Amino acid sequence: MARYTEAQCRLCRREGMKLYLKGDRCYSGKCAIDRKSYAPGMHGQGGRRPKVSEYGTQLREKQKTRRIYGILEKQFRNYFEKAERQQGITGENLLRLLERRLDNVVYRLGLGSSRVEARQLVRHGHFTVNGRKVNIPSFLTRVGDVIEVREKSKESPRIKEMMERAADRTPPAWLEYESEPARGRLVALPARDQIDVPVQEHLIVELYSR
Ligand code: SF4
Repeated sequence: MARYTEAQCRLCRREGMKLYLKGDRCYSGKCAIDRKSYAPGMHGQGGRRPKVSEYGTQLREKQKTRRIYGILEKQFRNYFEKAERQQGITGENLLRLLERRLDNVVYRLGLGSSRVEARQLVRHGHFTVNGRKVNIPSFLTRVGDVIEVREKSKESPRIKEMMERAADRTPPAWLEYESEPARGRLVALPARDQIDVPVQEHLIVELYSR
């Protein structure tokens, strides 16, 4: 199960940027990056950062991407291998696969304040895909799939809050959302410029091609 026991804010501090792992907190004055922009640990503050090698830069980019999507190494590698087998640009294929995960789609629809929360809601069985309950966060959605809040989940205060949230938002262009009856649809696969993650995916491809 892809879970991190480390505090999420620590991961952002490690990467030196906001990875938006904690939902609304990330947009508030409580964000640890806004308050302290140095890396965690005793060597993070004050001292000179060592020069980073090419390998180190590639590794950081991969780690950052894993953390944004909350994926463990082995599963991430599997995504990469799948991306490599697909036609097109491997790095973009990789990001597209990650975006198609059900937990990410729920997050992109606004039905989770963070990917972590969206994953938890998926696991708790609050959504259907094409009318069937799916509680697997890594479920890979396809163009045309309809993702819907389950009828009985609509009574849950948390889900109600998320439905209100989603109704106020505009999802990315590759998704559609109807607030009545709380249903989203994948209308296309995302183009690279529709994936707003601060990642240089070619560095990940270089890392795994060593
Ligand atoms: Fe990262 Fe969000 Fe924590 Fe800020 S509040 S450090 S963006 S997880």
